[in-house]
Amino acid sequence: MSRDTGPQCKQCRSMGQKLYLKGERCYDDNKCAVKRRPYPPGHLGRFSRRDRRATEYAKQLKEKQKARFMYGVSERQFRNYYELASSRPGITGEILFQTLERRLDNVVYRLGFGGSRREARQIVRHRHVTVNGRIVDIPSYLVKPNDIIEIKDKSKKMQRVRDAANANAQGGRIPAWLESNVLEFKGTVLELPTREKMEIPVEDHLIVEFYSR
Ligand code: SF4
Repeated sequence: MSRDTGPQCKQCRSMGQKLYLKGERCYDDNKCAVKRRPYPPGHLGRFSRRDRRATEYAKQLKEKQKARFMYGVSERQFRNYYELASSRPGITGEILFQTLERRLDNVVYRLGFGGSRREARQIVRHRHVTVNGRIVDIPSYLVKPNDIIEIKDKSKKMQRVRDAANANAQGGRIPAWLESNVLEFKGTVLELPTREKMEIPVEDHLIVEFYSR
């Protein structure tokens, strides 16, 4: 059996839960490191007393890290997203995750054209994606309602795009705020997602408390 101690799996193990960072293998419990080794990484991980004595601060920090790992953004980017969200009228946690969800790399992943956000980011960077007919190679580009996201004609033959699309066509994991035509490698943003429609296993209030200290 292959070793699965890549940096993404370590991030999941340090958080103690699946963050789905590696595509299809995340859905196979025989391959997922969180299931196979349910203790933190490192040579003492097995003996750690995770969460038993976690302080409020540790819980807040962990929740922030979890969200940051999921979307694969840097500390600075995450803080910028938070500050932007907190400066807007409305519920800060909802606006924060709405912004993260609107990132083009996330949308390409959600539409099923990349097996993970990391893979989707590469697909965007390598100029395989168009928004409303124009190539956009900036993973942090924020989509808006009615935007049409498409894999370029020449890129539709790429094996990794086809594999991800096939897996999604079977798994039906496309969220309700997006419409995806997997066969044509084309999707539309129907609306901005509300917090309930995002299904992100993160407690927003802990992140808000972390930055409000
Ligand atoms: Fe690795 Fe995916 Fe399992 Fe996380 S969910 S530990 S990335 S296989």
